[in-house]
Amino acid sequence: MLESPLLNDSLGYIDGKWCAADSGKTMPVTNPATGETIAIVPIMGKSETIRAVDAAAAALATPASIEQRSHWLSQLADLITQHREELGRIITHEHGKPWKEAQGEADYAASFFRFYSTCIEHLRPKKLPDRPRNHRWTVYYRPAGVAALVTPWNFPLAMLAKKFSAALAADCCCVIKPSSKTPLSMVALFTLLEQLKLPAGKANLVLGPAGEISDVLCEHPAVRVISFTGSTPVGKKLMAATAPHLKRLSLELGGNAPFIVFDDADIDQAVEQLMANKFRGAGQTCVCANRIYVQTSIAQEFSQKLATRANALKVGNGMDEGTEMGPLIDSHAVEKVQRHVTDAIAKGAQRIAGSESTTAKSQTGNFFAPTVLRGVTADMECVQDETFGPLAPIIEFTDEDEVVAAANSTEYGLAAYVFTKSDARAERVISRLSFGHVGHNTGSGPTAEAPFGGMKHSGFGREGGVEGLHDFIEAQSVPRP
Ligand code: NAP
Repeated sequence: MLESPLLNDSLGYIDGKWCAADSGKTMPVTNPATGETIAIVPIMGKSETIRAVDAAAAALATPASIEQRSHWLSQLADLITQHREELGRIITHEHGKPWKEAQGEADYAASFFRFYSTCIEHLRPKKLPDRPRNHRWTVYYRPAGVAALVTPWNFPLAMLAKKFSAALAADCCCVIKPSSKTPLSMVALFTLLEQLKLPAGKANLVLGPAGEISDVLCEHPAVRVISFTGSTPVGKKLMAATAPHLKRLSLELGGNAPFIVFDDADIDQAVEQLMANKFRGAGQTCVCANRIYVQTSIAQEFSQKLATRANALKVGNGMDEGTEMGPLIDSHAVEKVQRHVTDAIAKGAQRIAGSESTTAKSQTGNFFAPTVLRGVTADMECVQDETFGPLAPIIEFTDEDEVVAAANSTEYGLAAYVFTKSDARAERVISRLSFGHVGHNTGSGPTAEAPFGGMKHSGFGREGGVEGLHDFIEAQSVPRP
């Protein structure tokens, strides 16, 4: 079991109190690197979720001032920063990513609370300068109501921080449901939250698989917003389930990011950026490059450099010194990457980095070697579908129109990357790419200060920036004579 001062008894948190499941049912949390059970947490269901929503609805009756919310947000940012090492250790144990990278996730989470502690000023009532209809007008930004925040396992702390920071800024009251694969980071966050002395019901934590929990969140009339990060198929189910109840949805869904390298790019810089972008979290990030388009004249040099770097990556337990990439989350994730590699090789691709023996030799079978394929074509599964693993498939292209068409030929539209020294070409290409985030000569992902979100089947709504507040507020216009 994982001992930590931030984990208490690993319980849920409803109406200001830690609590177990009404049924007494529990489930294990497993370390994907070792297969060990690191905690036992409650499996909550309908009754606990109804209590959590009711507590949140009751807490809406006691609004907090902007000053108070700003203070909470900056206090929480400071607490996360103070406990970054321990939060990182918990993330590494339940997710597998290297400890240093996990501490970076804690810093990233803190940055959202810090950003919204000042961005909250945008929520002060706004008086219109003119007198339309011969009235004085004031626009108020009211909390949208009870917000359900549902998150995936790939950033157990940061994905929630993005939502919760904006929801708290807007004065919503929240019911939080983390992935049942990685609930411990949330237990740790709630341990820190207790120090803020939020009113009971302001933030509630329900643990367990989606099932009954998501049914209540979709149907309970008090829930006005569901902010979801996860896969596109589940996002679609949520949209169908909430349609009869007209709930507001914010959907941060899957990606299939193109990474485009033109022949005038700095090849070493592009390889460097791709390494960081592709293999962070063992390739289990929504923004990581899924399809690497390289102009034919530089494909040989680029591929060789990438393969050399990928083969040199140190794969292992995230808590071991020097580990650069950890395991995948579970055996299903490994099977998917393996399926994509097998399919591509059967259709003519060549493996130039990575070895199958890594998985067989690993303690849990959850490890997969950083793998690079050449000779990849559009008919292969790894091009059509999000691999969500450490696979870099290289596809060659000859000109700008061809690569823009290929990059856009997906139902997804989350992140893309363009490497070229020509600003004019970059402007042209970026304006034609249907993706919410496009890095130019960088593989950098989102930041708290800028809006981030998807187009098409990658969802709608934005997190970060002033725009991140929009999902959690209702604008109310008041004319006065
Ligand atoms: P997932 O299977 O869709 O699960 C996400 C969350 O939804 C979990 O808490 C899960 O709970 C819950 N869930 C599962 N089925 C549900 C249902 N029918 N109704 C309501 N909730 C349900 O996704 P994942 O495997 O955790 O995460 C990987 C996916 O997330 C990838 O596609 C990735 O691209 C995407 N992602 C997107 C972003 C973004 O910003 N756009 C960021 C990160 C990840 P349980 O699993 O506990 O049942």
